[in-house]
Amino acid sequence: MSNRVVTRFAPSPTGYLHIGGARTALFNWLYAKHTDGTMLLRIEDTDRERSTEAATQAILDGLTWLGLSWDGGAVSQFERAPRHREVAEELVRLGKAYYAYETPAELEAMREAARAKSLPPRYNGAWRDRDPSEAPAGVKGAIRIKAPTEGETVVHDRVQGEVRFPNKDLDDFIILRSDGVPTYMHAVVVDDHDMGVTHIIRGDDHLTNAARQTVIYKAMGWEVPSMSHIPLIHGADGAKLSKRHGALGVEAYRALGYLPEALLNYLARLGWSHGDDEVMSIKDMISWFDIGDVNKGAARFDFAKLDALNGVHMRKMDDKALLDIFVATLPYLEGGPALAARLDDTRKAQLLAALPGLKERAKTLVELADGAGFLFVERPLPIDEKAAALLNADARTILRGAHAALQTVSGEWTAAAAEAAVREYATAGGHKLGAVAQPLRAALTGRSTSPGVFDVLAVLGRDESLARIADQID
Ligand code: GLU
Repeated sequence: MSNRVVTRFAPSPTGYLHIGGARTALFNWLYAKHTDGTMLLRIEDTDRERSTEAATQAILDGLTWLGLSWDGGAVSQFERAPRHREVAEELVRLGKAYYAYETPAELEAMREAARAKSLPPRYNGAWRDRDPSEAPAGVKGAIRIKAPTEGETVVHDRVQGEVRFPNKDLDDFIILRSDGVPTYMHAVVVDDHDMGVTHIIRGDDHLTNAARQTVIYKAMGWEVPSMSHIPLIHGADGAKLSKRHGALGVEAYRALGYLPEALLNYLARLGWSHGDDEVMSIKDMISWFDIGDVNKGAARFDFAKLDALNGVHMRKMDDKALLDIFVATLPYLEGGPALAARLDDTRKAQLLAALPGLKERAKTLVELADGAGFLFVERPLPIDEKAAALLNADARTILRGAHAALQTVSGEWTAAAAEAAVREYATAGGHKLGAVAQPLRAALTGRSTSPGVFDVLAVLGRDESLARIADQID
């Protein structure tokens, strides 16, 4: 056996991959990459009523979009039920677990009695020491683990520290139901052991489960993996994460125009830091991440920070790479499919040329698509309200002059050549440059804001530019 780190992400396919799950996957992935280990994927589909194929697919898609790759195939927990059963039966043989035969009504009465005495509703251990020969005929019992009754169970957690659970609080919980279905608590332990998982990294809502799971590990004589329970994500106001705060499926973040790398950077920084570094590449994160450095306190999700970070990543990104990701994401953006349908090679080339200017003004791919809208519209352009206000009678007169000046550009049609012609016309006519540039922008884009107007002229090309201006002066 090698000592390589094996982590796992173990989502329940009862809904989409939400942002907290994505961060758990990210921490598992980063830790595996950082240590040159592997990350496995286990789909915890034992809850047959709530698990769906569509949710499994959404989880796989979400992880793939984020680039969080796993080793080997996705393991189905449900398919491993025979093995879970086998281990439960072995624990009975080892004297570490036993069959209990209470009916649901008897269990309810037991809980009721405990409640009446203000005690926690725990199993009273009735069958723990009874002889199996006393088992009622024809009844299949449930298997319960013999939990220790004295001392404490300690979880050595790399994030939470040493967490102690008094054993008197642990009851003999069920590991195999009377219908032969393993419980979640038991299945997780058997799977993690069989899959060779060395490090468990998951949400701190599983911390108390860790104590119960430790009981099973010890009963089997298995080594307990290293545990790290990471704090959950809260909203910016400190309240539990809701949709309003960003508790969306990761596919929603794609539709909102975030780059996977920026989202990962943001998620990594939620509860973990590396000095003062805010902006990190995936490579940086891999080389800097250590699970022991994750904070104990709840992290707060803040869309404004995510937006700002996304903008930084967009500006840093090489234009060709950004174009590729924009083209790949376009179909998922609101109104994007219509643009994607019009994205021919000419428009792609125009987009690439316009990107340096566009990305200065956009924090997300949605804003980028919005800024690039002028490339996709057909003449005569729809003119928005603010642009229409810029195109008053005076402005149209100026525009007529600018049109004539631009027509005289004889050499190559570049931003510099267009700028020279417009400046010369403005100076000669005694106009401020803005008084010429503003109506030009309105005529060329139908908007009052856009990348630099000379860049717009260059990107659109001579014929289209002159035609768009002419449309506004007739
Ligand atoms: N399936 C559990 C969940 O989605 C995770 C269990 C684990 O990581 O041990 O919350």
